[in-house]
Amino acid sequence: MNADKYPQAFQGGWLVIVGVLALIVFLSVKDLYPVEEISWQRFERQMLLTGAVDRVLIVNNNEARVFIKSNFSDDTRFKDAFRTGPLSTDKINPGPHYRFTIGSPESFERKLDLAQANLPADQRIEVKYTAEHSLWMDFLPWLFPLLLLFFLFRMYGSVSQGSTGSPGAGPSIFSFGKSTARLIEEGNKSPVTFADVAGLEEAKLEVREICDFLKDPARYTKLGARIPKGIMIVGPPGTGKTLLARAVAGEARVPFFNLSGSEFVEMFVGVGASRVRDLFRRAKEKAPCIVFIDEIDAVGRSRGRNSLYTGANDERESTLNQLLTEMDGFGTNSGVIVLAATNRADVLDPALLRPGRFDRHIYLELPSMLERKSIFNVHLKNIRTAPDVDIEFLAGQTPGFSGADIANICNEAALIAARISKVRVDKKDFMDALDRVVAGLEKKSRIISSHEKKIIAYHEAGHAVVSWFLAHTDPLLKVSVIPRGKTLGAAWYLPAERQIRTQTELTEHLSALLAGRAAEELIFGEFSSGALDDLEKVTREAYMMVVYYGFNPKLGHVSYFDSTGRQENMIQKPFSDETARLMDEEVRNVLQQAFKRSKDILMAHRLQLEQLAESLLAHEVVYQPELQQILGKREVMEEPVRLSAYVQV
Ligand code: ATP
Repeated sequence: MNADKYPQAFQGGWLVIVGVLALIVFLSVKDLYPVEEISWQRFERQMLLTGAVDRVLIVNNNEARVFIKSNFSDDTRFKDAFRTGPLSTDKINPGPHYRFTIGSPESFERKLDLAQANLPADQRIEVKYTAEHSLWMDFLPWLFPLLLLFFLFRMYGSVSQGSTGSPGAGPSIFSFGKSTARLIEEGNKSPVTFADVAGLEEAKLEVREICDFLKDPARYTKLGARIPKGIMIVGPPGTGKTLLARAVAGEARVPFFNLSGSEFVEMFVGVGASRVRDLFRRAKEKAPCIVFIDEIDAVGRSRGRNSLYTGANDERESTLNQLLTEMDGFGTNSGVIVLAATNRADVLDPALLRPGRFDRHIYLELPSMLERKSIFNVHLKNIRTAPDVDIEFLAGQTPGFSGADIANICNEAALIAARISKVRVDKKDFMDALDRVVAGLEKKSRIISSHEKKIIAYHEAGHAVVSWFLAHTDPLLKVSVIPRGKTLGAAWYLPAERQIRTQTELTEHLSALLAGRAAEELIFGEFSSGALDDLEKVTREAYMMVVYYGFNPKLGHVSYFDSTGRQENMIQKPFSDETARLMDEEVRNVLQQAFKRSKDILMAHRLQLEQLAESLLAHEVVYQPELQQILGKREVMEEPVRLSAYVQV
């Protein structure tokens, strides 16, 4: 913890602690009553019966304070009492000189009456009662809650500081309403540049313009051009949205505020809006600058009727309203440019996307073969690879992978190689990393009975055989019955890179997915629970075919797909009960037909199915050459444009 990090807060904290300790010490010392404590017997014999007592004061019903007559001040028995103690030094107003504890006023008075029984009434000593409050005892009840509150606040402050990591947030509760955006300035600017972002050429072109504008606004403004206030980067997870924003920070050489949409959200009402205000205030002070809001859907979700039911969205909505207002509030060429990233542009409020706010949208997609190649190039820069590592091959093996997946594969491969102390990372490490990323860690230790193993082998062989004999399915690469992650076995395909899929392709895919279950029924006469994942996939795909793609003749050319995402929370469906029934019926029909087709193929090739299952039981993995030996040469309708990667069923 360095002193620069929380300078004032910490010094303030220590001051309070020292102050409280000093107060405690002061009160404790003050409370030490320096009057000698005596016993009842000494009081009775030495003082009461000798007539030395002037009066007795009962304090708080439990302490008797004894005042000795001043003419006894020279008496050797009491000399000390007159010399010591803060209250005893003044002879004009002496005492109390001694004290002792009494059980109760009643018992004290009884004993006193008994002791003075032989004295005439006018010589009896005077007893007075008083109540006294010790400062310390008064202070204690509220000192503890105070200390507790203080430490709780401090703890909360440190936790929120830790979670945001923001130097601006400060560790105190009073910074709740402050923006938690991290500011990256020239000195500590992000080391990421456009060179670190592979592919995404169009996107880079768009954001490069922003960098140019911020560096030289006159070039644009003198022609009357307006630079967009906000840029929304949209794309699937891991496609490099955050990376692109960090590269803008690295390139633009202007201050860069970085925060996530969820940082606006706090459990207290009004905090989000106040953080938005604070963010824009700080940004305007630093203009020209860039503000990057990651995962903006956390605050930017469409304001809608669903808040009527939950009421929970009020805080988010007021935050969003504030964001909309702030984005309107700064001038077009004021030099504050807001970048935002989301995976779900469909759920964003339309007001956020209108011109004048986030008017420029950059769509990032999963990288193409060429882009994957350059992403591999970027991530292999720091990895010592063996000569057999072919980037083109790796890029071919990874269609549908995002940049983050590729970065993960490179790292996994290096970890695998390091684990067995290799000098370089070779092709096999990359293939193992690929298997691991796609299907999870190999779990050879999982206990599987021989009957279970047999069911798994036939299930996977079923997938392999059916997809082999269907012309429009993806080519099969290998089949394995090694448990990995959550799966017990898998058939690995090399899907082609396609933009659209035809009805035939999708129907055949359903048959290939249902083939494991069909094989189980054919061989064992019953189904197992192992086909859960397949069933989930086929149900989803069949619904998409019927409800979204308009493939069903009975439903006709209709699609109930909602690209705006606004129907998500609607109670009323946009179709009648009759249509819903028809949809369910047709989905069942589609799946029934697909299943029948699988079973027909398996019955026709039962021998090959058994042969493949036996081979799987013997070797655990069967590769393409052996598949070809067992199943014969595969007939493919059309060679896909580009063969690539692992996808598993
Ligand atoms: P999310 O939506 O989940 O936040 P994202 O789109 O913001 O994901 P990033 O955080 O930018 O994804 O990317 C994650 C990692 O993936 C990066 O740190 C980088 O290592 C790698 N990566 C993604 N795209 C690329 C790319 N085009 N070039 C190089 N590396 C990339």
